[in-house]
Amino acid sequence: MTGENLNVFESAQAQVKMAVDKLGLNLTVYDFLKDPMREMTVSVPLKMDDGSTRVFRGYRVQHNDAVGPAKGGIRFHHDVSLDEVRALAMWMTFKCAVVGIPYGGAKGGVICNPEDLSHTELERLSRAYIQAISPIIGPEKDIPAPDVNTNAQIMSWMMDEFSHIKQYNAFGVITGKPLIIGGSLGRTEATARGCVFVIEEIAKKRNINLEGAKVVVQGFGNVGSFLAKILYDKKATIIGISDVKGGIFNPKGLNPYKVSEHLAATGSVINYSGAKAVTNQEILELPCDFLVPAALENQITAEIANKVKAKIIVEAANGPTTAEADKILEKRNILVVPDILANAGGVTVSYFEWVQNNMGFYWSENEVNSRLGQQMVQAFQRVYDLFQARKDVSMRVTAYMLAVDRVAEAMKVRGWIGSKVEKDQAYTYKLA
Ligand code: GLU
Repeated sequence: MTGENLNVFESAQAQVKMAVDKLGLNLTVYDFLKDPMREMTVSVPLKMDDGSTRVFRGYRVQHNDAVGPAKGGIRFHHDVSLDEVRALAMWMTFKCAVVGIPYGGAKGGVICNPEDLSHTELERLSRAYIQAISPIIGPEKDIPAPDVNTNAQIMSWMMDEFSHIKQYNAFGVITGKPLIIGGSLGRTEATARGCVFVIEEIAKKRNINLEGAKVVVQGFGNVGSFLAKILYDKKATIIGISDVKGGIFNPKGLNPYKVSEHLAATGSVINYSGAKAVTNQEILELPCDFLVPAALENQITAEIANKVKAKIIVEAANGPTTAEADKILEKRNILVVPDILANAGGVTVSYFEWVQNNMGFYWSENEVNSRLGQQMVQAFQRVYDLFQARKDVSMRVTAYMLAVDRVAEAMKVRGWIGSKVEKDQAYTYKLA
């Protein structure tokens, strides 16, 4: 144990501070961005199927809405805490800014273990939570979406509940909905697909042939499973896959479609035939070209960072690398493609879904995917160009610099941080 600080909110604040300092921005910008603009804590009573009542704690945090309505998913997990939701909301602000979509950042969470709830209990909890936070959300205010342990069905109940409260069909209040009620084609796979666009770009820059490249994927949920499948279709070799219960490894490659079938039949990727069992720590230490953490925060700790043998880490999850691990990886010359860039595909297609809802006109899957590709490649290029030009900062700091600059400019022109700002040139900072 290194005794490192695992408070994700504090590490998110430190990331912003670093960017503010590197940009030479006035400290008022940091004072504004270091805390969320609005937070709501709710107690949600739930009638259980057996007639008893349990009270669940939930949060909705809006970090910043200078650029546009706040946007971000809702997580159902037993480890949800207010500080975690704050960090995730802050990361959403900068994620939206880095890909240049007109949203601020928000996040929600309910402390619960959805596996312990029946289908009907889950529906009642989803509806009760949305009722509780309904005063602060809306298509022009704050637009939730899926996150860990929430899905299209849950979004559908939530949209329906909100629509009952407001007495009209408010499709635009939530994204990640089923297609039949205003969902977008391509949204389910969007985070994974966006991440693959980023992997393709970084592979070109680093002269790695994606065909035959060795990839390890930690986490086999919505993001990890689609990511492994898309990369497998592009002929990458998926040598390691894991879920909460453990990992599997085969240096010749795993077929993620078959692993998915095994998962559906047994509830886990472990015990998949034709693979060696590895622990959840060993999976992160396998030699590979790309290590893709696609699970939760704080997975790559300082201890693990010293043992990582990947060439490049691409953060499909939010906050998978601790601050201390980040420094170690930088020293060891292991490139980290940061979460706010690598996993921005989900919210990008959420934005497309909301645009389609507002227009009442729906796009083909090809159109969604090609627009997603354009947005991700362009964002990657901006971050990578500045990263190459600066040479003194990591790709994470570079991404934050671009994102913070954008949000600071919106706050400035709106008059939130005063018109007289020292080092004013910072706002016209040239990005390339
Ligand atoms: N939960 C996803 C994320 O962390 C998507 C958020 C959204 O679509 O609003 O980026």
